[in-house]
Amino acid sequence: MDLKDDSTLAFLASFAKKHREDIQPQFRHGVGIIYEIENADLSFERIRNYEQEKLLSVTGSRSYSACPRCKSLLLSLRLSCPDCKKLSLARSEIMIHYGCEYSGPVEEFVSQKDSEYVCPKCSKQMKRVGIEYGRPGIGFKCQDCGRVFQYPLVNAVCHNGHELKVDEIDLQHFPVYRINDEIRNFAEVAEYFASIQQALAGKGLEAQVLCKIRGGSGVIHIIPLVVRAGKTQVIVDFILDESGFDAKILQKILRGADLSKYVMLLFVPEGLVGRLAPIVNPEKIKLVPLSGNKKKDPAAVAEEVIKAAG
Ligand SMILES: [Zn+2]
Ligand SMILES: [Zn+2]
Ligand SMILES: [Zn+2]
Repeated sequence: MDLKDDSTLAFLASFAKKHREDIQPQFRHGVGIIYEIENADLSFERIRNYEQEKLLSVTGSRSYSACPRCKSLLLSLRLSCPDCKKLSLARSEIMIHYGCEYSGPVEEFVSQKDSEYVCPKCSKQMKRVGIEYGRPGIGFKCQDCGRVFQYPLVNAVCHNGHELKVDEIDLQHFPVYRINDEIRNFAEVAEYFASIQQALAGKGLEAQVLCKIRGGSGVIHIIPLVVRAGKTQVIVDFILDESGFDAKILQKILRGADLSKYVMLLFVPEGLVGRLAPIVNPEKIKLVPLSGNKKKDPAAVAEEVIKAAG
C-alpha cells in the first residue's frame, strides 16, 4: 500500500514497538532506494520528510554504486578479455605446462587414461604437479583470442547501458535512520489508545485504533483513533511536544481539510493552545490541552470525544 500521509506518530510508534533496530535503506529492483516500515515501502523523499519533522534521526549511512552519468543504481558487472576486450570468456580451473609454458582450462589437458594429463600444445605427458605442471587456480580463457588469464577486465554497466570502468563508478549515500525517542515513547501510547477505546465502548461508542482513512484527495491517512458517534465521526490525534510544531500543525490542518467529513479532536501541549487557536477552524478542529507529559485519563478523553461529537 502506498501511504501518502505517513507522518503519523502512531504509524512509526507501532513500528518502533516491534523493532529496536535502525531503518536501513534497501535497493528495490525497478524502484530504487526504499525504506520499509510496517510493510509499506517509503521513498527516500518521504522518509526525509520524517527526518525534517524530527520524527527520525540519522545514525549512519550506506553507500550504493551509481552510474555517474544517469545516477542509476542498477549496475551489473561485465567481465571481458584484457587483450581483445571481447565478452566471450569461459571460467575454469587453469593448468600450466612448465615445459612449453602453455596454459589453459584443465579440461584441455585431460587424456584418455584416468588421472593422466597431456599437454594439448606439445603433446607431452605431465605427471608431477609442481614440477612438470602447475594448477594456479581459477582463471579465464577468452574464447575469441585464446588468451588465458587470472583477472579479467571488470567493467560495470548501468541500467541505461552506460559502460563504466571500476574507478568511474560513483557512490551515492543514503542515511540509516532511527525512530526518535519521542516516538518510541509514543509506542506505549498504543495501549493508552486501547484503553480510550474501552472507555468509549463503555459509553456505547465505537472506536478504532490506528485506522486508515482515505481522504477527499484519495490520499490514505493513518489515524491514531477514530470514533463513530452517531452521524459524526471524530478523529482523535495528538501533538506531543512543541518541536517541529509548525510542520506538524500544518499537516494536521491539511489532513483536517482532506478529511472534511470528520471532526478532529487534537490534544496538544498546553503551551501551544494559545498559538493554535487563532489558526484552526474551531468547528473542524477542537483543541484539548495536555498538561506536561501526563496522559489524560481515558474516561476524560472519552468525555471530550462525546463533547466534540456534539
Ligand atoms: Zn548510466
Ligand atoms: Zn580475447
Ligand atoms: Zn606443453
